[in-house]
Amino acid sequence: MILEQIRYAVAPRPRRLRLRATDGVINQARNQAPSAKGIMMAYDLLIRNGRIVDGSGMPAFRGDVAVKDGKIVEIGKLSGPAKRVIDADGRVVAPGFIDNHCHYDAQVTWDPLCSFSCDHGATSVIFGNCSLSLAPVRKGKEERLSEFLSYVEAIPMEVLNTLEFTWETFPQYLDQLDHHLGVNVGNLIGHTAVRYYVMGDDCQRRTATEDEIKEMQDLVRDGMKAGALGLSVSRNQGHFDPQGVRMPAIWADEKEIFALGDVLRELSTGLIQSGGGNGAEMKDALMSRLSEATGRVVVYNNLGQTMRRPGQWQKHMAQVDATTAKGIRAFPMCTPNRITDYFTMRNTQTFRGMTVWHPICLSSPEEMLKSYADPEVRKKLHEEAIEFKNGPAIGICSTWWDYMVLQTAVLPKNQQYEAKTLGEIAKAQGKGIIDCFLDLAIEENLDTEWLHGENNVDDEAVAKILTYPNAIIGLSDGGAHVQFQSGFGFSTRLLSEWVREKQVMSLEQAVRRLTFESASTFGLYDRGLLRPGMVADIVIFDPDTVRPLPLEVVHDFPTGAKRIKEPAQGIMATVVNGEVLLEDGKHTGALPGRVLRNTYYQGIRA
Ligand SMILES: [Zn+2]
Repeated sequence: MILEQIRYAVAPRPRRLRLRATDGVINQARNQAPSAKGIMMAYDLLIRNGRIVDGSGMPAFRGDVAVKDGKIVEIGKLSGPAKRVIDADGRVVAPGFIDNHCHYDAQVTWDPLCSFSCDHGATSVIFGNCSLSLAPVRKGKEERLSEFLSYVEAIPMEVLNTLEFTWETFPQYLDQLDHHLGVNVGNLIGHTAVRYYVMGDDCQRRTATEDEIKEMQDLVRDGMKAGALGLSVSRNQGHFDPQGVRMPAIWADEKEIFALGDVLRELSTGLIQSGGGNGAEMKDALMSRLSEATGRVVVYNNLGQTMRRPGQWQKHMAQVDATTAKGIRAFPMCTPNRITDYFTMRNTQTFRGMTVWHPICLSSPEEMLKSYADPEVRKKLHEEAIEFKNGPAIGICSTWWDYMVLQTAVLPKNQQYEAKTLGEIAKAQGKGIIDCFLDLAIEENLDTEWLHGENNVDDEAVAKILTYPNAIIGLSDGGAHVQFQSGFGFSTRLLSEWVREKQVMSLEQAVRRLTFESASTFGLYDRGLLRPGMVADIVIFDPDTVRPLPLEVVHDFPTGAKRIKEPAQGIMATVVNGEVLLEDGKHTGALPGRVLRNTYYQGIRA
């Protein structure tokens, strides 16, 4: 203990001052309150009088948490001297939340805090999900790779074009990030990036050859050896590039996916994440077979209640129960969010994948207006989106007009329809759905603002999903869909709406789900619990007031592009690797975040 104290006291000072400085600290400690050993530990940070919810799910208790050299060193009734003391009276002290499904791959390069996840108590974020990462990337192909991220995750190309690609390989990308971070970031290697790197434009035309698969395996191996938390693939049939062609990862056959997953088995590290895994799992258990073959955890999107497929979440749950009973770890992700889209007809993802409507949405505003005025087009859209003659759609349910609410009208005469559903407006006007919708689009020059939400609208279903032990809570999609939606507040929403108001689970259980469960799933074995020896990622919040606040529009992206902000209330402080990052919602200026690396990387360096 004494040696550690000496190092602590003199670390930043020149060598010749070492003795004097050490004496000073020991004397100071002696004068304050000698322990049984005669010397008190001097802490970097002492959080006092908190209600400690430690992430294990065990009962909360009153006490102090002490931090030194980035780690938790003691929990209890503590009185040692400390550089910094925070009074947490009446507040909860918990492990920092883990925002486990994000797309900050680009944003992190200009925003090391990864806002607005950090505002809601996240101390770690994980991105590279759904097969989309920004590495590896060949020189000269940066713009094309960005397009995949841009269209799927709705981040404008004008923003992504400002990115400076100072990396090519995945290890280079990780090293680059590691020098400038507010929060901790974990990275997954995206199958789409790997496939494009190896196959070029053929990645959206065909399956891969044996040699190409070997080359892809090498890239995944390099990334995993450099510490990536895992591999991300995709089976999401609704993910397109800006030209309307399905994402590269969707073109892979099972052989390719299993070959890439096998690299993780070989290195015995990491997890596999899949976008759109729900359909694939229900169809032929692809997710659980992948987990069984590799021995790795598989997480996939998603377990949720949706009007698009009534009754499906119960069937899905029954299947996951059977998989888990066999000892296989293939878990769906779920969210306390309703998942809503704000959009105008100038720019929407709502009608993607529909044969007639999708190409119109990709055309210019002038062409859109022309199409929408054409009675022939309207007839086809009616057949496609009202009668569903071509079968069900990817992004809308069979009565989507009942879940689409007019937010803001442009013309004063249409303001009477605000807060009404499209179905209600059509009825009031005595028109068909398509005529009503497109007449509004034309007379308001495509600028009418709509809110569309048909997921997680049944509270009883959501309560069952959130308390389901075989699903992982998260799925904020932070950094993605920036112009349409905001899921940053999943943690504060769970704590306010589902714990405080609806009481579907205890505070201890909710914290465990936001911390220990994600940390364990993603292989972050030194985080997600408050225990001596664990890394000091901590959030302090007021359990009586914590909640997400109403959405705002801000223009703080490069080029002044807009995005949706979801502010938080009741988060008093977040501590990352032992340093205070945010205090009452304000950044302290510290950049204590690190790249989170897997067990293989840490084992080699130990
Ligand atoms: Zn995603």
